[in-house]
Amino acid sequence: LIAFLLYLFYLVAPMGQLIQGFTQVQNGLAAVKRIREIEELPAEEPDDTVYHVGRTPAGVRFEGVVFRYGDDRPIVHDDVSFEVPAGGLTALVGPSGAGKSSVFALLERFYEQQAGTITVDGRDIRQWPLAELRSGLGYVEQDAPVLDGTLRENLVFAAPGVEEADIWRVLARTRLEDLVSRLPEGLETRVGHRGIMLSGGERQRVAIARALLRTPRLLLLDEATSQLDAVNELRLREVIAEVATETTVLVIAHRLSTVTGADRIVVMEAGRVRAVGTHRELLTDDDLYRELAATQFLLPT
Ligand code: ADP
Ligand code: MG
Repeated sequence: LIAFLLYLFYLVAPMGQLIQGFTQVQNGLAAVKRIREIEELPAEEPDDTVYHVGRTPAGVRFEGVVFRYGDDRPIVHDDVSFEVPAGGLTALVGPSGAGKSSVFALLERFYEQQAGTITVDGRDIRQWPLAELRSGLGYVEQDAPVLDGTLRENLVFAAPGVEEADIWRVLARTRLEDLVSRLPEGLETRVGHRGIMLSGGERQRVAIARALLRTPRLLLLDEATSQLDAVNELRLREVIAEVATETTVLVIAHRLSTVTGADRIVVMEAGRVRAVGTHRELLTDDDLYRELAATQFLLPT
């Protein structure tokens, strides 16, 4: 629940406060109402969370990034440079502790690097209005849980004002139409904690659908480490490939099937980028990558 609340609140507040403030929240829907209230507070910057049609995919660049979580903390990124071209699928891989999730944290501007530059569309992210930057980001956390509420509520709470047609377009995109037709009350079926339990693969695709309804220009996806059955694995692969045709996808990959489909793979180790290439290139060029591939990537992280 705490991880989920972090996800819910990532738009509106820094993480530390959230952990303290919301461990007591018992009912997920009550929490969502509170988020809406927070989101509806007059902001310095325009609220940009409604559905956007035709937003262009964003390109990202890390250039000489040096990062630690605090002055007395160990170095997390030690001169990290890589590019995520606009559109397409870029995968981040590497052992636990390599600094992959911290790339997401920096992009969302939960933290700021000590040196180097991060740009989105060539513009330093420190110069982007925060609301505008974050409204362009979709984030799917690892093993994202489903909220105790209807499937519809699970999909739209972060995207008020979406049209019915958008919901169905995204359901098709995320291969969830079958699920909806199987559920006794369709989209109005209660799922999650006290409702119908969804499988790991379904939960992950619900989380992707939720992010897509905000029409991100850059989708950050921290892939689940839990095993998927063959059908769900195939569906996930298709969904990621299709989403990458309409927006930029940066995925922390734990699955061989995800990286083999990636346009570009960035191999991180101990705070550095050690190699960049396609699956084929890296299999011949990088020992660590070959090792990861041999273990099918399912690493805890
Ligand atoms: P990965 O996702 O590749 O496993 P992370 O980016 O999560 O790596 O972590 C890189 C390093 O940063 C690790 O040593 C980890 O302990 C540390 N770290 C990650 N998140 C935080 C945080 N919120 N505060 C302090 N240290 C952190
Ligand atoms: Mg991680």
